Formats: sequence, C-alpha cells, structure tokens
Amino acid sequence: MERLKEKLKQIDGRGYKAYKTIEGEYKFPDFTLLIDHVQGDPFASPSRLRVRLSQQRAGFPAELFENESRRTALEDYLVRSFADAIRRYVRGGRGTGRSGLVAIAPCGQEILKRSAVVVGEDYIEARFVVGLPARGRTILGTQASEILFQELPVVVRRSLFYGNLDLHSCHRQVELAEDQDFIRSSLKEKGLVAFLANGSLLPRRSGIDDRPMPKPPAVPLLSPQSLEVSFLTPNSGTIKGMGIPQGVTLIVGGGYHGKSTLLRALERGVYNHIPGDGREWVITNPHAVKIRAEDGRSIERVNISPFINNLPGGKDTTAFCTQDASGSTSQAANIMEALEMGAELLLVDEDTSATNFMIRDQRMQQLVCKEKEPITPFIDKIKSLHHNLGVSTVLVLGGSGDYFDVADLVIMMDCYLPQDVTAEAGAIARRYPSRRRPEGGPDFGELTHRIPLPESFNPRRGSREVKIQTKGLHTILFGTTSIDLSCVEQVVDPGQTRAVGDAVLYMARRYVDSRRSLRQGIEELLKDIGQKGLDILAPFGTVLGDYSMPRKYEIAAAINRMRTLKVRAGPQGERSDGKV
Ligand code: ADP
Ligand code: MG
Repeated sequence: MERLKEKLKQIDGRGYKAYKTIEGEYKFPDFTLLIDHVQGDPFASPSRLRVRLSQQRAGFPAELFENESRRTALEDYLVRSFADAIRRYVRGGRGTGRSGLVAIAPCGQEILKRSAVVVGEDYIEARFVVGLPARGRTILGTQASEILFQELPVVVRRSLFYGNLDLHSCHRQVELAEDQDFIRSSLKEKGLVAFLANGSLLPRRSGIDDRPMPKPPAVPLLSPQSLEVSFLTPNSGTIKGMGIPQGVTLIVGGGYHGKSTLLRALERGVYNHIPGDGREWVITNPHAVKIRAEDGRSIERVNISPFINNLPGGKDTTAFCTQDASGSTSQAANIMEALEMGAELLLVDEDTSATNFMIRDQRMQQLVCKEKEPITPFIDKIKSLHHNLGVSTVLVLGGSGDYFDVADLVIMMDCYLPQDVTAEAGAIARRYPSRRRPEGGPDFGELTHRIPLPESFNPRRGSREVKIQTKGLHTILFGTTSIDLSCVEQVVDPGQTRAVGDAVLYMARRYVDSRRSLRQGIEELLKDIGQKGLDILAPFGTVLGDYSMPRKYEIAAAINRMRTLKVRAGPQGERSDGKV
C-alpha cells in the first residue's frame, strides 16, 4: 500500500499514460488490491480492479455458501451490497470524463450467478472498475489516493465484511434463493410446469421499470381452489399457490385483465428473484422458453417441416434457410430451435405471435385448401408436442375459442385474478363445435439436430484483432457480425449478453469441430462454466466482473441468429437423450 501511495505521488501531474505504472498487486490492511488494467485515457472504459480478502477476515459462516444455490445468492447479494456502499461512500466526479467513478456490475431483480463477486472457500473477491482521475490528460494523484486509500477501504469494509452487513437481509436472500431452487426442482415430481404463490405481485412499475407495482393498485395473485398446491420449503415453511400442470394450458380473459403480465412472470420464473420483488415465488420449469414471431431474422437449415410444408417454389422445409423470415416461419424456427436444445415448456403470447401460425379456422380451411397453405397451425401440433415429446405449452389467447378443443386446462384472468374455467370451456366446445379439420397428422414430426461448422464463427474485425462487444441487453457484435437479441425475451441482464458473446467464441474454439451438434457444444461449454466459473469466458489473461450467467437457450438463440451461421444436418434424434 505504501508503494502505491508513493507511486501516485510520483506520477501526480504527469501525463495519463504514467498511470500504467500502478498496475499490480498491493497489500492493504484488510485486503489485497489488484489493479489489473489501467485505462488509456480519462474517457476510455474505466480501469479494472479487484479486491481480495480472506474468508477469515470477511467472516462469512460456511452455511451461507455450502451449496450452489446459496453461494450464488450470497455472491449476488454481495454485488448489490458493494454497489450500495459505493452509492453511500464514494464521492465521484473528480475531474475529466469518468474521473472518480467507482462501479460494479449493476443488478436487476434477478438473482444470477455473477462474476463481479466470487466467494471461494478461503477468500472473497470483488471485481469493479475505477475511473482514475485526471484533469484533461493530467493525472490527479491526490484524487486517486483519496479513492483508493479512503473511499475504497470503507466500501470494502461496509459491504464485504459479514459483521457489517444487514444480516437479516443477507440470510433472507440466501435462504429464499435456496427455497426457490427447491421448488423449481420439485415441480416435475408434482406434475407441474410452474407455480405462482398466493400473494405474488406480478405487474411491474412500468415497461422500463422492473420493480414491482405498489400494492394497491397491484392485485395480489390468488389461486383458484382447484389449482391450489403447496410446497414445504427448506427455509420458509409451507408456500401455497397456483400450480400449472404439465400439458396444454390456455390463459384466456378480456383485454387488459392481466394475461400477458402472468405470462411474463412465468418467463422470468426460470430465474430466482430478490426478496420483495413480488415474483420471488413465481417458479417456472428451468427449461421454459418464450416463443414468439420474429420476422426478419435469419434461419440456418432448421427443420421446420412439422409446421411448414409445400412452400411456393418447392423450398425445402426440412433444412429451411432464409435471411429474412416471415412471422410464421420465424415462430416455427423459434420452436424447433428451442426443442433442439431440450425445451420442456413453451410460453406463447398472442400479442407476439403470427396469427396464421396460431390458427386456421373452418371458414379459412374452406376457402384456402390445405394444398395451398404451407402452414400447419400450432393448434394442430400443441397436443402431439406434449404426447410425443413431453413438451408442455402455456398459451395466452383471448381471440380464438378453437383452442378449447386442445386445452387440458383453461385459466381465465378476471380483473387480474385467475379462475379455472376448464369445465365451462369444455362444455362450450361441445355445444359449438369448431368444425375445423385437424391438419398435419397425429404425430408431431421430426426433430433434426444441427452441427455448426467452424467457418461460421469469425470474431475478427480487420486482419488480426478479435473483437466481441455488446450493447445493452440486445446487441452482440461478434467480429463484424451483429447479433440481434431483441426478440429473445429471457435475456434479462446485460451481463448475460456479455457472457453469451464471449461464450460463443469460447465454444467455437473448443467445441465446434464439424462433429458435435449445437446442443452438445453448448452443453460442453456450460459444463466448463459449471466447473471453473464464468471467468473462463474472459479473453486470455483478463478477469472481468461484468458477466452473469445465461441459460443454454439464450446462448443457442444468439448462435441461431448469427447471419454467418453455417451448419450441416446431424442425425435426427430423440430429443430427450441429449446425445445427438
Ligand atoms: P392483457 O394481456 O390481458 O391484455 P396485461 O397483462 O397486458 O393484460 O395487463 C394490462 C395492464 O394491467 C398492465 O398495465 C398491467 O401492468 C396491469 N396489471 C396486470 N396485472 C395486474 C395486477 N395483478 N394488478 C394490477 N394491475 C395489473
Ligand atoms: Mg396481452
């Protein structure tokens, strides 16, 4: 520490480049400071630093990180705690550009595995950035000293020392996350695909604010009697609420009665949520994938033949390619790609679906004969999807009662409260037959695995430089290829986007070999992350604090949207064995 003090004195008033000399490792009384990378100028991305303190000093009881659920929740809690301490103890604004900024990866409502804080058996490490202060390009050494020797030690002490935390809220988050994972892993044995506890608050503050809508006006969820189930959790006692069983579930109801809000909560229920979110007991099968139309996306040799056949011009739909998909072909591809990765639950909302993909009624069947309609609508596949492949669907649909014929359960949202109207819907279906003819045969059809080819993945920009950048949630620049994730709605944290970008390169270098299928490649990648952590994704020699954990479905989604993707067909296969 004295050495660093001395250096900062020496370079005070010199040109910004002299800051480079402070890269290195320094012993502070409470922790080790690692200055990994110093920015090139005050406007560049801020410098990357780490603090590491011994578990002995930090004092966390082992029970707080004794399993993966708990460890992840604790790490996530400490990132928030560090950010909170920055808000309270860092002055900021110490010169030009980003001078004086101290920041750690921002967290939303989800509890995610994050690289910003790592809790090991005998140490805790936090990764953050600092805008090393300057006036113009002149180093402000005294200001830097204030940040590193006054502000930072307080931030660390306040946020990473067990004894200084709000112990109740820390334990609460860890125990809650463990309970959420517990329910998620018990859904199957109860025959459920999702669970929403009574009292859950599903609506958000606004379209751009993911915090809960205050209550009132928010109406808390209450399960209809017929769907009520309960879970005895490890830490929170018995939790009661609405269970959504496997099979085909229809969510109906008038416009503005909360259908899409319910579905969105289910989409997010694949992740854990922080205490107070309102959706902390909304738990969905972890293999749930939101499906929507996405016209304009590219598709590379996806077998969409279960849904689309006899395209004009005789275009092959068992290996369908396009750089500009239509609403219906994009929705079909989104389903087939999700199934290829092992999806167990599809979440579909009429608001974001292609009408002609969802339904073809009797009158339309009369006017446009099957030979002239390439699309087999979803209504004719939704049952075989479950019977042949074991894949359930939750479908929001206010516009077509034809689906009553194929639904196992019909939930009506009535002023934001779910009602079980399965019996009424069944009676109506019998009284008013839809008279439409089923199309597409009794079976779902083939699933084809695809083998990505190495030439798909060129991360270079110019002749040498490897460059992968992300912008917000939805854009990855992979070399010169731009990947658009704006319709991949279960990417919820910009850290996931960053991880996906670098994961694609990691996978391409190790597991894209013209033999492994896309699914195998991604599963190998995830196995590596599981064993060695998110740090393996960082470009050689760097440690980055801004990753958070994506699911395999979102990694696949990014690869599937690369316009440079080239694949060859692998074997057709059973989807459940995970082998092909
Ligand atoms: P639908 O899909 O049925 O048309 P939405 O889910 O889009 O309806 O919800 C319509 C509006 O009602 C949204 O502004 C949403 O925030 C609000 N809302 C949804 N659920 C609730 C609730 N439980 N309590 C209060 N407001 C809600
Ligand atoms: Mg809606």
